[in-house]
Amino acid sequence: MEPAVNSESKLRADIVEVGRRLYARGYTASNDGNISVRLDAGRLLMTPTSVCKGFMTVEMMCITDLDGRKLEGDRDPSSEMQMHLEVYRRRPDVQAVVHAHPPIATGFAVAGIPLDRAVLAEVVTTLGSVPIAEYATPSTKELPEAVRQYVQAHDGMLLANHGALTLGKDLFSAYYKMETIEHFAKISLVARLLGGERVLSREEVFKLQDLRGRYGIAAPAPICTEPPTGAAADCQVIQAPAAPGQRLVPDYAAFPDDLATLIARRSHAPGSVPADREIRLTYGELTALIEDAVKNLR
Ligand SMILES: [Zn+2]
Repeated sequence: MEPAVNSESKLRADIVEVGRRLYARGYTASNDGNISVRLDAGRLLMTPTSVCKGFMTVEMMCITDLDGRKLEGDRDPSSEMQMHLEVYRRRPDVQAVVHAHPPIATGFAVAGIPLDRAVLAEVVTTLGSVPIAEYATPSTKELPEAVRQYVQAHDGMLLANHGALTLGKDLFSAYYKMETIEHFAKISLVARLLGGERVLSREEVFKLQDLRGRYGIAAPAPICTEPPTGAAADCQVIQAPAAPGQRLVPDYAAFPDDLATLIARRSHAPGSVPADREIRLTYGELTALIEDAVKNLR
């Protein structure tokens, strides 16, 4: 038995399998995406550049050090290697990194909408929230810089106008987080088409945070419901309104700017506010309402 060799050949085979799954599920097209895993303290095993992730073979992989120097392999490492290196340098707990372009989640990334609403218990307990790292030119050093802001506190993030990035304690856990993000994006999209999410109240979200502790679910940072003050995010910001005693809350924040649509949706959408209940308006909505009223007076 040669454990080191065995584990390297196992990891090569695992990367091939994860690549097949990403491609089969339509999370990558053509040569998109990249996958890497730690071999030991100083070496990474990584997918090569310019290959379709659905048709890789074990001998295609590259071995690099943590500065990105190629140590082994006929092909050059992934063009997004710098983004992977950034993750490994900042997160010693992370063993594997997966990057793909799953279409629904990437749609949210293109629309500039983070997946940060408290909607599904399993997402709140595992990923917390999925923020969007600023747009950066792919394969340049801008991308690791954009990712830097969120990598300390998140195991999954969207990349603006690009795709998604997930990290894990092993290769399959990083891959499954990619599945979770795309699944969450699909459900969020359908809910919005059906009139908008009803979100979990803040109280419910903190109950889920307690479950993390009880079931030993590893998370790089705690959940918070207010944006942190510092430059780098040090908690997972989740949109969850305070609503004492309520478990589910209509999603006030999700309503569009246009006042007519706003009012129509509030009176017809499932889970909308009954006529005799208080409707809270944002400052912008209130201003629009007053402007409308003034126009009608003239
Ligand atoms: Zn990409």
